[in-house]
Amino acid sequence: MNSVAVVGGGAAGMMAAICAARMGAAVTLLEPNERLGKKLNITGKGRCNVTNQSDRDELIAHVPQGGRFLYSAFSRLDGYGTMRFFEDLGVPLKVERGKRVYPVSDRAFDVSAALERELMRLGVTLSRDRAEALILRDGQLAGVKGGHASYPAEAVIVAAGGVSYPATGSTGDGYRLARQAGHTIVAPRPSLVPLVSDDPDCAAMQGLSLRNVTLTVKNQNNKTVFSEQGELLFTHFGVSGPLVLSASAHMRDFGGDRYRLVIDLKPALDEKKLDDRLLRDFAERSNQNYDHVLGGLVPRSMIPVMVRRTGVAPDTKANSITKAQRRKLLETLKAFTVDVTGPRGVEEAIVTSGGVKLSEVDPKTMGSKLLPGLYFAGEVLDVDAYTGGFNLQIAWATGKAAGEAAADDFKKVQAL
Ligand SMILES: Cc1cc2nc3c(=O)[nH]c(=O)nc-3n(C[C@H](O)[C@H](O)[C@H](O)COP(=O)(O)OP(=O)(O)OC[C@H]3O[C@@H](n4cnc5c(N)ncnc54)[C@H](O)[C@@H]3O)c2cc1C
Repeated sequence: MNSVAVVGGGAAGMMAAICAARMGAAVTLLEPNERLGKKLNITGKGRCNVTNQSDRDELIAHVPQGGRFLYSAFSRLDGYGTMRFFEDLGVPLKVERGKRVYPVSDRAFDVSAALERELMRLGVTLSRDRAEALILRDGQLAGVKGGHASYPAEAVIVAAGGVSYPATGSTGDGYRLARQAGHTIVAPRPSLVPLVSDDPDCAAMQGLSLRNVTLTVKNQNNKTVFSEQGELLFTHFGVSGPLVLSASAHMRDFGGDRYRLVIDLKPALDEKKLDDRLLRDFAERSNQNYDHVLGGLVPRSMIPVMVRRTGVAPDTKANSITKAQRRKLLETLKAFTVDVTGPRGVEEAIVTSGGVKLSEVDPKTMGSKLLPGLYFAGEVLDVDAYTGGFNLQIAWATGKAAGEAAADDFKKVQAL
């Protein structure tokens, strides 16, 4: 008889299955996809930012939703612990900018393959099946009903993910299973997501990617909520790219707040240096038209936008540009603003915020406070973090907590 059934062969489910099996439980892992870790394999642009080299407190500081809830799970597995776990599984790791940890091979596939090897070694039963419902007998949890078979189990770990990137398999089934047990689902919201703007300049520049710019996000009280350097992309709907995804996790109140993006197109030059550069450019190209000179300062598709925003006629000769016009150009280069109206949909988000309500889950074990024997791990929970390997770290740490607790429960049942 199966003792622990794990629903979902993503990061959290595989970790939970491994930890439960290492504790001696008989584990069945249900995953409808042909391969385990379908989402894991596309993380970090296929390189998998597997964790962040951080201790518990640093991890918590990067988890805006549910950080305190994860105190116990991160105490038992922090970023260093995750690194040891994968190196022990034969995945050499390296640490990059911002303490982001990747496999030396730069292949996410090596991470999922190592997990799969360990599942095999431990004798975990893999079932290519989709969990449809919890099996309840006299109000007690008795297993999981799949599309192909039933899986009797003393403990069930729901690690079915959120609702982002549904093509990878996370379609909200975890919420349905949790609801069946009476759990509250905090409405899913997108996090780490592209942003929508009604500024026509975005569409005019769609496809333009800006590298090494500084993006600062201000709320309606002009308070800075995010500022970082990196890469940003204009799209037909607004803005995207790594910087924007990171920024979006800090813009948590689209209902009640308005956000303005301020892009510094020349972060390496302070105002004085940039002004010197403009003076030099205008002097060297004194007989050229303004739009031509702009070609030396911004990408081609940005020129008409800069012309419009600075209000200088494109055929103005460089030598007749006034000090005030030069000042306006400088200001536009240092603070190119884009107002955003909201995020794109949750299905386009890297991470789903919202999920199983944390007050109904024991933070030590990830066990349901409503239905004994039921556990949760990973993105199905109402937790989400900033970019940098923190979201996968949540999956590993909650997977471990749930797996070990579920196996322990099973042992207690056996001892009776
Ligand atoms: C493009 C992209 C890049 C990312 N890059 C990073 C990164 O570099 N670093 C980082 O930390 N985070 C990254 N993330 C976030 C990270 O991938 C997730 O936080 C993490 O995968 C969550 O793990 P999970 O196991 O909870 O859910 P998932 O990985 O979504 O796994 C859930 C699994 O459950 C299965 N399932 C669903 N319903 C059922 C059912 N009814 N029965 C059985 N199985 C079911 C699904 O098929 C799926 O395999 C990225 C996300 C995306 C989309």
